[in-house]
Amino acid sequence: MEKKKAQKKIEKKPKIVETICNDKDCPHHGNLKIRGRTFEGTIIKKHPKRLTIEFEKMTYVRKYERYFKSKIKVHARLPLCKEKEVQIGDLIQIRECRPLSKIIHFVYIKKIKSKEDNK
Ligand SMILES: [Zn+2]
Repeated sequence: MEKKKAQKKIEKKPKIVETICNDKDCPHHGNLKIRGRTFEGTIIKKHPKRLTIEFEKMTYVRKYERYFKSKIKVHARLPLCKEKEVQIGDLIQIRECRPLSKIIHFVYIKKIKSKEDNK
């Protein structure tokens, strides 16, 4: 389902100039409102219009009375105008928005650190 939707959108809106973003689900150029939780994480997968980020969270386990690390994966929408900005391994910030699809409830905001800076 997702792939079909993406193809249709591309056909309807061919991008002529890179600086102009025709993506309606873009927080800067489209009419997508961002609100809610903010997360920071590393990109582990990159698809057209979608990112997967991963970050660690400390959760308290009552039975053992200790904190344990747990990894959380979140899918985020990548607007067309930001597509060339990020690569796998970058640290980015995402923000919650309305559900864009079954698994995407977040949108890419900004890049905090690129992969090359960490080296
Ligand atoms: Zn845009």
